[in-house]
Amino acid sequence: MSTDTAAMAPPPAPALPTVRTPAELRARVAAWRKEGLRVGLVPTMGALHEGHLTLVKRARDLADRVVASVFVNPTQFGPNEDFSRYPRDEAGDARLLAGAGCDLLYAPGVEAIYPPGFTTTVDVGPVAVPLEGHFRPGHFQGVATVVTKLLLQALPDVACFGQKDYQQLAVIRRLTADLDIPVRIEGVPTVREADGLALSSRNRYLSAEERRQAVTISRVLNRLRDTLGDGSQPVAPAIAQATEALTAAGFTRIDYVAVVDAATLAPLERVDRPARALVAAFLGRTRLIDNLALGPDIP
Ligand code: AMP
Repeated sequence: MSTDTAAMAPPPAPALPTVRTPAELRARVAAWRKEGLRVGLVPTMGALHEGHLTLVKRARDLADRVVASVFVNPTQFGPNEDFSRYPRDEAGDARLLAGAGCDLLYAPGVEAIYPPGFTTTVDVGPVAVPLEGHFRPGHFQGVATVVTKLLLQALPDVACFGQKDYQQLAVIRRLTADLDIPVRIEGVPTVREADGLALSSRNRYLSAEERRQAVTISRVLNRLRDTLGDGSQPVAPAIAQATEALTAAGFTRIDYVAVVDAATLAPLERVDRPARALVAAFLGRTRLIDNLALGPDIP
């Protein structure tokens, strides 16, 4: 019996090489470059799930070697947000990354990223102002600064980010274009549970009841797409209906339900161009975000 069980167990994933400083990361990447290999980067905050692993697999398709970073970046959390309780599990993350075909884990400490005397920040401008930028002041400055640093430390050919954080993806596209950082930014479609809930490290905060309520976000996004996608209906009444549906499902605070231009994130009255519907709402203390393309998607 025990022999059978042992025979059926999956083989252990090989240990994943791990580096913790920019200098060690650069040395590894430089060695690959010398061999003419293409390098992919997948920045994460850890507590990995299938969504993150899909980014790693996409990076594998586009590059010869893949680096994943795991860094819970303090500067992108507000004072009343969940930085200190954000889930951390480096050993579990390393096992998952190795199984997904990642070649190197970059897991710096806070002092490796923000050494004493650090003061520079990256401010991206209008695309970072509405939505998340409005409800999480300073968030995108923290994201833009750390992503700029990670890109300049790793100098990858391609970096993969999830469409799950749609505005973040737009901010990163803007900053790499504006700062002439020579990297392809690849946006990867959102991975969902069977019922439609977008995978998120924060889903583990949800109680069983909240988990049942959470699915309403993807339902209202689908309804917005079905109602507004052909451009025949005005946006405002559909947003009001979506907001009511979230409240009725038990969401305790709704930061926004928005329908915006897919590229500029400017609000739309009608879906007469590529558009995105976005939601941010709380179940208890847990803040969930999700979004969906309305009409034709843009890459
Ligand atoms: P995080 O660890 O939450 O900072 O996310 C790291 C990267 O994974 C970001 O580019 C996210 O957009 C992406 N990501 C998070 N959840 C998903 C998901 N459900 N599907 C696809 N990508 C995701």
